[in-house]
Amino acid sequence: MVEKDVVCGMQVDPAKAAGTSEYQGKNYYFCSQSCKQKFDQSPQQYASA
Ligand SMILES: [Zn+2]
Repeated sequence: MVEKDVVCGMQVDPAKAAGTSEYQGKNYYFCSQSCKQKFDQSPQQYASA
């Protein structure tokens, strides 16, 4: 099972994700720390999709 990295659109395996963030009760998984940092700076921009 994979999750979508909402920053770059890549498919990310949660077990191998480079970073995770929780926003509004939902977990988001990222392929890299840079994607996580972008999300953390403006989660509302990415989480709405
Ligand atoms: Zn990414």
